[in-house]
Amino acid sequence: MPEYITYKTKCGHDFIPEFVMFLDSKKCIGCGRCYKVCPQNVMDLKVMEEDDEDIDCTYMVLVNDHLCIGCKACQKVCPKGCFVHKPLEVKNDQI
Ligand code: SF4
Ligand code: SF4
Repeated sequence: MPEYITYKTKCGHDFIPEFVMFLDSKKCIGCGRCYKVCPQNVMDLKVMEEDDEDIDCTYMVLVNDHLCIGCKACQKVCPKGCFVHKPLEVKNDQI
């Protein structure tokens, strides 16, 4: 059995965080909900310039995913299912 990075809840139960692994910017509608709820500033909004219609589209990208604490708040608020999360195994040098 792999050993995953695990936190303790307030009452001492184990909690296994699931860290952000992927954000599908092609599905993103740029609503900014994930940006507002992330406590770690993991995402940032980018602007894609549309030459032919002179419209600017916004979309989210991961910029600091190494800071993710695995709370999954971003996934809960995303209306388009853009995120993939997973628990991470403890590496030997973290024990
Ligand atoms: S899981 Fe939590 S910390 Fe990680 S990117 Fe999503 S909102 Fe931010
Ligand atoms: S919540 Fe989802 S759709 Fe909205 S900006 Fe974030 S990734 Fe894009």
